[in-house]
Amino acid sequence: MLAESEAIERILSVLDPLPQQNVPLCESLNRFAASHLLAMVPLPGFNNSAMDGYALQAADSQKSEPLRVTGEQPAGAQRDLKVDPGEAVRIFTGAPLPAGANAVIMQEDVTKIDGGTKISCNEPVTPNENVRLMGCDICVGQRILETGQRVTAARIGILAAQGLSTFEVTGCPRVAVVTTGNELAQAGTFLKPGQIYNSNGVMLQAMLGGLGISNVSVQHVPDDYVRTADILRELIGSHDFIIICGGVSVGDHDCVRPALQALRVKPGFWRVKIKPGKPLLFTQAPRGDGTSCTIFGLPGNPVSAFVTFELFARPALLKAMGASAQELKHPQSSTVLDSKLNNGSNRPHYVRGYFDGHKFTPQGGQRSHELFGLGNSNALLRMEPGSKLQAGSEVTVLLI
Ligand code: AMP
Ligand code: MG
Repeated sequence: MLAESEAIERILSVLDPLPQQNVPLCESLNRFAASHLLAMVPLPGFNNSAMDGYALQAADSQKSEPLRVTGEQPAGAQRDLKVDPGEAVRIFTGAPLPAGANAVIMQEDVTKIDGGTKISCNEPVTPNENVRLMGCDICVGQRILETGQRVTAARIGILAAQGLSTFEVTGCPRVAVVTTGNELAQAGTFLKPGQIYNSNGVMLQAMLGGLGISNVSVQHVPDDYVRTADILRELIGSHDFIIICGGVSVGDHDCVRPALQALRVKPGFWRVKIKPGKPLLFTQAPRGDGTSCTIFGLPGNPVSAFVTFELFARPALLKAMGASAQELKHPQSSTVLDSKLNNGSNRPHYVRGYFDGHKFTPQGGQRSHELFGLGNSNALLRMEPGSKLQAGSEVTVLLI
């Protein structure tokens, strides 16, 4: 049985980022920058007003004489106005600052005189007050995105502010999910005795969606190694990843390994020292064109499937999507455990629980078929084999 860290290392060592592609900006969400990007447009693009008010020379705000309002500068049009001493220009948020002005006084801080042709300042302003200076947020040449950084909605905002409508990202893998098992019924059908609904298929599809991988093909095969081999053969030719779930253990009806054997695909590894999820299979099936299809055989128990996807398939998929080493890891937090826990097993145990920002509370039953607690969980706590933790122990959890 392989140690968890070795399994991850072996997976990541054989995966490369997919070729890059140019996608419309709105489709780049959750993808990864294929190369670093330098700003071409400064932000702000010109000195402009942060307030509705009056552009003036800051020193004039301290004087008792009213200021003459000589014009109006709205946003969106450069009126080439000028502010001399003793003068002010009516200005609005986002409007270019007139030449000569070095501050804006908020309209709430002035008293209009003679129908607004003059103002007197009720508060002093300092140079640059309420002014957004050109380039103070982003200057030309600044690195605004690093290779392998995730494209978030905020970063899409930055790219759009650069005037871009498309963006170069690393490719997105074509992923197929295959569920296995004679006992599984599809949603919407009546359960026959001994049947259960197929929950892993759509759960894995949703987990892929969470990584920004849509367009996933989801199929089901009965426990029949010939049919499993047939479907795998077809998918190997057309997909970058196959996530096959269930049937990877040693039971008489576990068909994934016999199917791979029939296809002459050797398992890279099978079985990892981890709980839940021991029967985890990983391999790559070569294709005629020199590329290969990466195959994960996840255990069928729903919690095992979830945890092994998070720990092993997720980093592999993200690496193929071009994520930086840092982006491959789950965010972590140190916290306090609020009840005692015991890992009597000889494998590391990932305990599912809820992290509220202060403490970690294990949720529900912790056996590998017990989905309910996982549903209330947002974090995993890794317990060393044979370890005991007291309530109040300081722990580090992975945020999922
Ligand atoms: P297996 O890994 O095929 O031995 O399955 C282990 C357990 O997971 C069994 O109780 C299966 O019924 C269950 N299981 C397997 N596949 C699924 C699935 N797609 N959805 C829900 N439960 C499943
Ligand atoms: Mg099965």
